[in-house]
Amino acid sequence: MDVSYRIEQKRKINGPFPGPKSEELAARRAKAVAAGVASSLPVYAADVDGGIIVDVDGNQLIDLGSGIAVTTVGASNPAVAKAVAEQAQHFTHTCFMVAPYENYVALAEKLASITPGDFEKRAVFFNSGSEAVENAIKVARIATGRQAVVAFDHAYHGRTNLTMGLTAKAAPYKRGFGPLAPEIYRMPMSYPFREENPNISGKEAAERAILAMEKQIGGDQIAAIIIEPIQGEGGFIVPATGFLPRVAEWAKENGIVFIADEVQAGFARSGAWFASDIEQIEPDIITVAKGIAGGMPLSGIVGRADLLDSVHGGGLGGTYGGNPVAVAAALETIKFMEEQDLPARAREIEEKFFARFTALQSAFPAIGEVRGRGAMIALEFVKAGGKEPDADLTKAIAAECLAQGVVILTCGTYGNVVRLLPPLVIGDELLNDALDVLESAIRKLAS
Ligand SMILES: *Cc1c(COP(=O)(O)O)cnc(C)c1O
Repeated sequence: MDVSYRIEQKRKINGPFPGPKSEELAARRAKAVAAGVASSLPVYAADVDGGIIVDVDGNQLIDLGSGIAVTTVGASNPAVAKAVAEQAQHFTHTCFMVAPYENYVALAEKLASITPGDFEKRAVFFNSGSEAVENAIKVARIATGRQAVVAFDHAYHGRTNLTMGLTAKAAPYKRGFGPLAPEIYRMPMSYPFREENPNISGKEAAERAILAMEKQIGGDQIAAIIIEPIQGEGGFIVPATGFLPRVAEWAKENGIVFIADEVQAGFARSGAWFASDIEQIEPDIITVAKGIAGGMPLSGIVGRADLLDSVHGGGLGGTYGGNPVAVAAALETIKFMEEQDLPARAREIEEKFFARFTALQSAFPAIGEVRGRGAMIALEFVKAGGKEPDADLTKAIAAECLAQGVVILTCGTYGNVVRLLPPLVIGDELLNDALDVLESAIRKLAS
């Protein structure tokens, strides 16, 4: 990889952690910021470059979270920063629904060419992943004239009203925030590690969901099936091979819009451009956000022209959707991903991770599974000897890593998954240091 860094790529904890400036900010925050927004780190960021987060007290942490799979090209990628500054000097906003501009069109063209499916496509842009998901459902409903929407166990699709309903996990995402939107149905996922019958194939798992859809809803009533090709918040669950293609095929047979929520897995993260590419599925609509714009808020949907064009003029949009500064960042981000072949870099990270942690797994039965694709990789922790989730151990490992200066996020329906989402511009030396810290934490705390 051909990247240079402003900040020395070294882990460094100076004195108490969190330091005094972070403690002071935490006290100010408690009196000003709503308690409902929680942060993983007890320290406040001052500067971020490559794989390093520098906090306000000068500590340097290795970032294995990328702000939840967002800063794939780095949080201060020079090419992205330059594009942002240049666009901001001309105009920061006109509203595409008022005065349209060229870069929005260029990004729609670009997405049509890099997303799976060799058919005519259209795209439209929004601000958040949730908003993209909401709009994909709007399109599916108007195009099919149907209302029912199918989502899966362990799914995460966002925090707005409709997407809360699509998201599986009650606490902290839904509990107490109802009423939730109607006409949402939840189907069994393919979760190889937790299948009752460990030999069930992807196709059989798909047939299980299909039978339930036929019996509980009826194929001709379903507007959309939405699924993350690799589930994110739900635990980095990779469905068994054959599951996604069969569900997509059944959707097609029944005139159902198949939506791949690629908000987390998309844009080089999975080792392919999109996780849908891995099993060569061609979703009717793909939702994108997170990694798309090097940290600038931008999301979108891209899909079959006939579906997206079935919406009346004025039916889609939003004041800030496809903001020109965010779009400029996205174009530069995609260019950087292409030039540096970041999907290949993600596959290298996958290899390193699997080599090290499958070896460790044989010595530590608490590591129930090593899984994931590309630089979207995870360890599921269980009580030794079985499959009972061990959320306490997971939390303790993440805390130990943080104390050593490595930012590790957790996820999963049962809170027992450590997930790694390093920026793809991280260097090998820094990555190895971070993996050493994770391995030591496991050796110290697991059985
Ligand atoms: C993060 C995420 C969302 C929601 O995106 P926001 O930008 O937080 O609204 C939707 N789907 C998936 C798969 C996600 O990972």
